[in-house]
Amino acid sequence: MGLQPTNAGIDFQSRIAACFMTNMLFDIDLDSVITTNTQSKISELRFETKDKIDDLVIITSNSKKIYMQIKRSINLSENKNSDFFGVCKQFVKQFVCNNSEDFAYILVTSNNASKLVTEKLRRILDSIRTAQSLSVLEDFNDKEKDVFDKIRNNITNIYLNIVGKPILKSDLQKLLKRVYIEVFDIEKGQSYEKTIKTILYSNTDVKFDLFWSNLISLALSYASNRQIITRDKLHENLQIYLTDNRSFNKQNIEDETNVQNVVFQGNFFESEMDYVVTSYNEELLKLLIDSEKEIKDNNVIFIIALYRFDDFGKRTYKYISPDGLLLTNGIRLEVIYRSATLKGVYRYIESNEFKEVYSDYQLVVLDANDCEEGKSFIEIHSQFLKKCVTTNTNSRRNCLNCGKAVYQEETYICELDDDSVKNDAGLIHKECIIPVNRVIGIVQRSDEEDFRHLKYFDSSLWVRLLKDGQFFLGGIQKINQRISRIAVQTDRTSLIGNYCVKVILENGSYQIVMQRGKTHRFSKKNAEKFVLELNKEFKKGNEQNNPLCYSSESLTFSNYDNLVSLLGDQEEFIACVRAEIIKYNESSAKLYEKCKNYYAPLIYLSIDEEPLIIKGLFPIFTDPLDVHKILNTWLQADICIKDYEIVIIKDDNEFNLIVIEMITRGIRPMIDVRIGRNGELISGYLVHTMSELELSHKR
Ligand SMILES: [Zn+2]
Repeated sequence: MGLQPTNAGIDFQSRIAACFMTNMLFDIDLDSVITTNTQSKISELRFETKDKIDDLVIITSNSKKIYMQIKRSINLSENKNSDFFGVCKQFVKQFVCNNSEDFAYILVTSNNASKLVTEKLRRILDSIRTAQSLSVLEDFNDKEKDVFDKIRNNITNIYLNIVGKPILKSDLQKLLKRVYIEVFDIEKGQSYEKTIKTILYSNTDVKFDLFWSNLISLALSYASNRQIITRDKLHENLQIYLTDNRSFNKQNIEDETNVQNVVFQGNFFESEMDYVVTSYNEELLKLLIDSEKEIKDNNVIFIIALYRFDDFGKRTYKYISPDGLLLTNGIRLEVIYRSATLKGVYRYIESNEFKEVYSDYQLVVLDANDCEEGKSFIEIHSQFLKKCVTTNTNSRRNCLNCGKAVYQEETYICELDDDSVKNDAGLIHKECIIPVNRVIGIVQRSDEEDFRHLKYFDSSLWVRLLKDGQFFLGGIQKINQRISRIAVQTDRTSLIGNYCVKVILENGSYQIVMQRGKTHRFSKKNAEKFVLELNKEFKKGNEQNNPLCYSSESLTFSNYDNLVSLLGDQEEFIACVRAEIIKYNESSAKLYEKCKNYYAPLIYLSIDEEPLIIKGLFPIFTDPLDVHKILNTWLQADICIKDYEIVIIKDDNEFNLIVIEMITRGIRPMIDVRIGRNGELISGYLVHTMSELELSHKR
């Protein structure tokens, strides 16, 4: 059909398939991804089928069939060579097959497609579905009628061509009810990819990038082989990536990454030996009579292996902070580096830190002192180290040397064991380390660790809620303020009144007055009052040659001058002529409503079943993947949040309730709070109630 898909088109198609594969893999409700109301999960995916609509076919757990045509970009058109016409043709062909299991025909596209498809046509189809009738057409304005005519003309022409007689109105309605437009921001770095990330982090221990890119290439190969994949088959194919990475032992990780990663198991807490890098020492050299001839100058670095315990469990030698080592024979060495393993020493010698200081040197490796008696103490000491590290890192992750929080990518795990300190073990910043600190390992903060908080997170609930929510963010991001205020409407009648207000525009179209992404509903009395006020405002605007307008695309409502300064020349501005009252109607509301929830879903943290409050603020988060990043910025201001639970605010009602509760307690809710090093607020959205803001205006 139409043009050959481009590389970007193929990538988009594979990503869409990979996204449904993820859903099938983790049994996520299909309705949380697409608007079709199937009340089921995916049990089978068919790639490039022999059906009329062939890109991807979903078989649901209740045996419904959903057909998808996937186009990264598409324009509304009646041209017979256009992609849109091609898609309509496939829909009609499938429809005339008259299969009883057929449930939905979906055009899957991205925001690269024309807004007439992704916004206007999508809403028109939704409102026909809600109304269960084509009578809703009467409520369409001219632009909407124009969009509807294009799809209707395509369908009627194609049907006539294939079947040989005109389509019945009832069949047209039946077909249109099956047609859906779904928009996915699934390309690299886009928002839906983040949603998939949330699902993967909360369901597996795998590395996201690896897993996701494998899914995409798997989808591509399924498509080129026209394969049918069941849930079990997919599990089998992905087994290698789904195995628990944490079962890797220390050896595996060291072999794979060449780094001693953070794993508290097996022989990680080596206690038996010290491996010490020391600078040239004449006395020590004299002990090595044989070597003396070979060693020409004093540009020598020693690596010394030492048993740490004697048969009474005592240290056989002593470290003197910051860089001294006193051997039993009285020789005092200058320590450069101290490690629990030989491997650690080699790693250090190969590091840039070392190479910058020592370029031309001769390495002398000395065998251990004779003491193999203290074995029984080694196990006890290892247990002790493990306990220290676990305690120190579980409560507060602070550096043992400087006491400040640890959030860097790479940190040392060290044992403190010298004359100036109590024996302990824990994390030490790379830049804080002193030579006598005994390095046990290096902690590399991994992605998995960053997202550990998502292990108990209900990602399928989140994904379902996110689909029709968080509309406010789209609006807020346009306004470029570091700390913004948002006002929560706490007046319930705006959600349940039977009337709404229609504004007639100068081009003959109209808009319904909206509030927070939804039709603003009024009681009759309030609607009359509001219409009166609006008409007064319209008149005043006209007199001042600054009329109140709606913008053509984002439907922003304001006076002309304001719109010009807000949106520049990106959109047209259509002046309002007059306002009137109309009865609220569910299906025509669908044409305009952008979301179920304007604010929700949101997240807050709870500790011991109480919402987390810091410095009189109630922090709220918009993205589970961001929680960790935001908490890291708090760490720098010495605010350390541990052992929290993530709680989801499911809808706007719940959000309103918790906002009011907090404000009544004198606590200010704030969304995505970022704090500077000195504890000052850097950015976020302060939440107020509408009545609070009105009060402050009146003052
Ligand atoms: Zn430090």
